[in-house]
Amino acid sequence: MNKKTFTLGIFGGGQLGKFLVLAAKKLNIRTFVFTDSLDSPAIYYCDDFIISNYENKKKIDFFIKNVDIATFEFENIPFKTLDYVEKKIKVLPEPSIIKILQDRLKEKNFLNIIGVKTTEFYYLKKINKKNLSNNIFPVLVKTLRLGYDGKGQILFKNKKSFLKHSFDNKEYIIEKLINFKKEISIIICRNQTRSICYDAFENLHKHQILQKSQVPAKISLELNNEAKKIAKKIADKLNYIGTMCIEFFVTKKNELLVNEIAPRVHNSGHLTINAYNINQFESHIRAVCNLKTKKLKKIHKATMYNILGSDIKRYRSKTMMKNEFFYDYGKKEIKEKRKMGHITKIF
Ligand code: ADP
Ligand code: MG
Repeated sequence: MNKKTFTLGIFGGGQLGKFLVLAAKKLNIRTFVFTDSLDSPAIYYCDDFIISNYENKKKIDFFIKNVDIATFEFENIPFKTLDYVEKKIKVLPEPSIIKILQDRLKEKNFLNIIGVKTTEFYYLKKINKKNLSNNIFPVLVKTLRLGYDGKGQILFKNKKSFLKHSFDNKEYIIEKLINFKKEISIIICRNQTRSICYDAFENLHKHQILQKSQVPAKISLELNNEAKKIAKKIADKLNYIGTMCIEFFVTKKNELLVNEIAPRVHNSGHLTINAYNINQFESHIRAVCNLKTKKLKKIHKATMYNILGSDIKRYRSKTMMKNEFFYDYGKKEIKEKRKMGHITKIF
């Protein structure tokens, strides 16, 4: 293994990892991927990789020895692992931030403390199930940790069905279901000295999985700027380094509520590959490797569609139009609802 050149370590080997690796390559940065899955798109593009569970100390030590800085493509890498790595080399964004954002309750408490509005929420362990007011239904009950693409969420239309349900986990968060006008996300990238922020993307979810993102979002300039201001406040308060995504609900009254924060590059930002001079992945690499940031420029309007499960087969044989860009993540196993690829149309 050649350790003469600067090497960036990346935990996670999914499609986000793959795009990070490609962005690093463009900047002449070597990459070393640590993934727990054989079916990891990123391993075909990086310089080195390890396939192991995220708790294997021997493998982690080897990884530490061979990288200069570590980052991650998803936030559910065990905190203990990131914390251990950080004692030896820099991990960005910092694990102490991930500890807050890995946990929906800690995340919402943090947001409310800094004065950022979220959905109305309750902690299930603390409250007496029966005391929950009828007025807050319908609700979504979410696990505190490890949720993604709607996993770990249950919808209860009324208190009766909620009381009848027996919960497996010890702790949950209960959120009032928002009858929102639309969903948007802001991708912000912050380095030691400044932050750059993409315009709001408008997102459409189906069965709690992102289906489509588009830029520009059909919102007013004021709302776009307000969302960016909130994103900047969050990034500054966390002293965050790297790319981060803030998901918002826009209420019927045009109020912004933060739904969740993803401390990493994000699916809604895939369109930045074709719509901007610098995509969210390159921005992340530049920030964590302390390279100069560049001014963001939107080159195209764009819409991105996720391709789930066996739908990928249809796209593999489809002839694309001039303005269509198809990305096949190259995952071996096709599973229902698994993100297999995406297509971005530019205008
Ligand atoms: P995940 O980690 O799975 O992305 P989210 O909390 O972002 O979890 O939920 C996924 C999607 O489910 C959201 O983008 C939104 O469409 C819907 N959703 C989540 N929470 C609420 C809520 N409180 N009210 C209405 N819709 C919600
Ligand atoms: Mg989400």
